[in-house]
Amino acid sequence: MRCILVILDGLGDRAHDALAGRTPLQAAYTPHLDRLATAGMNGLYHAYLQGVSLSSEVAHFLMFGYDREELPGRGYLEAVGYGLEPDAEDVFLLCHLCSVAEKDGQLVLAHERPEVAKSELYALKKALNTCKSNDIGIRFVSTRKGDGLLVLSGAVSPAITDSDPIYEGRPLISVEPADATPEARRTSEQMNRYLLSVYRTLSSHPLNLGRKEKGLPPVNALATQRAGRKQPLTPFFEKWGLKALSIASLPIYWGLCRELGMEVSEVKDSGDPEGDLRERLSLAHGSREYDFIHVHTKVADEAGHTKDPSIKKAVIEALDRAMAFAVEEIMPDPEVLLVVTADHSTASVGTMIHTGETVPLTMVGKFPRRDRVTAFNEIDCARGALGPVRGVELMHLVLNFLDRGKLGGLMDTTHDQPYYPGHSKPLNLDGY
Ligand SMILES: [Zn+2]
Repeated sequence: MRCILVILDGLGDRAHDALAGRTPLQAAYTPHLDRLATAGMNGLYHAYLQGVSLSSEVAHFLMFGYDREELPGRGYLEAVGYGLEPDAEDVFLLCHLCSVAEKDGQLVLAHERPEVAKSELYALKKALNTCKSNDIGIRFVSTRKGDGLLVLSGAVSPAITDSDPIYEGRPLISVEPADATPEARRTSEQMNRYLLSVYRTLSSHPLNLGRKEKGLPPVNALATQRAGRKQPLTPFFEKWGLKALSIASLPIYWGLCRELGMEVSEVKDSGDPEGDLRERLSLAHGSREYDFIHVHTKVADEAGHTKDPSIKKAVIEALDRAMAFAVEEIMPDPEVLLVVTADHSTASVGTMIHTGETVPLTMVGKFPRRDRVTAFNEIDCARGALGPVRGVELMHLVLNFLDRGKLGGLMDTTHDQPYYPGHSKPLNLDGY
């Protein structure tokens, strides 16, 4: 048997007056997701603790059964995802160009992602590598639009804070050491020096002088986040005994899943959420050589970020149309455990980036119990037989419903693995 885990990123939401007190998922017409919930065992999931807002990389890492402390920062994972082949000693940060204005001796974020022409971006990004700090190497690598990665080398540490204030109207944050090591102190000091050098260099760049004349905001600063470096991690196959494939469209998932030793199928977003998800489900169903297939779509999360619940409702309906493939082709296959859930909630109301509410979870297959839930959403699934499911429990339930869980107490391998049979060593006749 194999598991197909479908993650509808950011699916969970809050109740909206504009939707008669319902969430976008409750309000959406979702006959296929409801069909799966009717056939399956349902519950509400949170990858960590209820109420805690999680980023996608943290949520996925926890869902795959890893501890939060083991996570290499997102900067490093994106570097892997973009195929940079990172050096194990280097530190990577996410960064993006933004517009700041001087006020009371601080740099206040005026435009998080100002409109910039491609040719302007090219010139401004090129100027970033002329900016220097004193005694560590800092290199800018362009990724997409105004975004990039900073690569720090030398005696550097990832234990530093972000400079990105996220919300417009707030000042750029001083980068501070997040532990007591001399490397963290030196890295944070040099980062601040570099960020000020970027501000001075870009502010006087001819392109920005030209933008000023046209009344456009200058693109004059770099905001940084989520420093990371390679960490030793137990491969997913060793941890769960499952040969895994990830089907996703963004470098963060490619990087994270590669780092866990999964195979990765780099699919593209075409602007047609229904067609894209159907294609991914079809690819997953045809990939019979894997025991665990992660199928991911980002569109519900992106719709949540628009803060318009009607947009999110429409996107969910498109995803549901794609789930017809799951109902017609995957659900009748007795060798598949189909799991549908989300990594976190992305509320289309309020100021938070992601929110801490639970998300619906359904498990359909040969072995899950069948409860009385007939609708897949944040309210109805609460009455399901799975009840509240947290963090690593998801992977243990997957092993259980694949009929591969180990009886607690057996020791067929040197590490107490949760699956049976483990990768155990046969006693050879000629061994002793
Ligand atoms: Zn997410």
